[in-house]
Amino acid sequence: MSLTLAVLKGDGIGPEISEATLSVLAAASDRFGLGLSFEDVPVGLAALAAAGSTYPAETAARVEAAEGIILAPLDTYQYPEGQPNPSAQVRRTLDLYANIRPSVSRLPGAGRRLDLVIYRENTEGFYSDRSMFAGSGEFMPTADLALSVRKITRQASERIARAAFEAAARRRGLVTAVHKANVLRQSDGLFLDAVRTVAGEFPDVRLEEVIVDAMAALLVRDAARFDVVVTTNMYGDILSDEAGELAGGLGLAPALNAGDDHAVAQAVHGSAPDIAGRGIANPVALILSAALLLQRLGARRGEPHLAEAADAIDRAVTAALADPANHTPDLGGRSTTSAFAAAVAAELAG
Ligand code: NAD
Repeated sequence: MSLTLAVLKGDGIGPEISEATLSVLAAASDRFGLGLSFEDVPVGLAALAAAGSTYPAETAARVEAAEGIILAPLDTYQYPEGQPNPSAQVRRTLDLYANIRPSVSRLPGAGRRLDLVIYRENTEGFYSDRSMFAGSGEFMPTADLALSVRKITRQASERIARAAFEAAARRRGLVTAVHKANVLRQSDGLFLDAVRTVAGEFPDVRLEEVIVDAMAALLVRDAARFDVVVTTNMYGDILSDEAGELAGGLGLAPALNAGDDHAVAQAVHGSAPDIAGRGIANPVALILSAALLLQRLGARRGEPHLAEAADAIDRAVTAALADPANHTPDLGGRSTTSAFAAAVAAELAG
């Protein structure tokens, strides 16, 4: 068995948490005989300095050829005007329509009790840099008037809903559709209509519908009641940060961007420029994102070893987090990125 993952180490804390993640994957590969290897693919500010683009054509070609990809956070805010956002390019060119963001409590005595997963539509909505065929969905007819066009289609809504219902059928059997159809009657109305249509294919899964502002409050009040949440792009982006924080912090929140043919592991958080280069970033989110990637590839390839390795990584992270001596400063501890990764690798070996 062998599997090569393309690794884009990103900006800011990206290279540090990528190294930590690769060391955990290497330990899992040794234990489960996965034959994992890694291909370093340049991206972001390093690629801009070396090749004149944050997402050079050669990088795009190597990403398109890869079955599994690890994409570390990017400091897109620092990119000069006109430079591509690699994250948007990857999601668009690989048609990664499902942004899957689990939030699970892992810290003993901290954070809320919750075990939910957000299925966020990833290709349209308010994200003006990726939702149009040509040009941008955001424009300024005059210096004092800015407009944003939000795109919702039945096809994209149905396919994210189907992914969410399939997940709920494997989990606790509840899908919560989050919307604002009381105000956005046509766009969110279309999204809800598509979700209801798909619900008809899953008689054993219950569908509930919650308005997005109420959802923000309900997550704080009783996050444990939610199983699978399906929603449009921007609501999913915002609610998953909230759920991640409730579960113990952004540094713990993993994500997978998935399409029918490709999957990309990508943490929910950004490049954390305020702590970059100090070796103290929490690598958990990217490690768990990589585990989600192995899970997905295992199911796709029919290779149970990959799923077993993913479960083992998940358990090893939880075990390492159980000891406060392993906590990085964002969790109130004094450990380092590499020491945490070593603790997870030791759990895996052990
Ligand atoms: P951020 O998520 O990078 O940081 C927010 C806060 O959380 C910071 O205080 C940071 O130190 C902390 N933090 C985040 N991840 C952490 C980790 N793993 N360990 C410890 N602390 C962590 O958000 P920001 O500061 O608003 O954005 C910084 C840059 O990241 C911007 O350029 C933004 O556009 C970009 N960004 C990229 C992605 C992505 O590539 N997927 C996602 C969000 C933001």
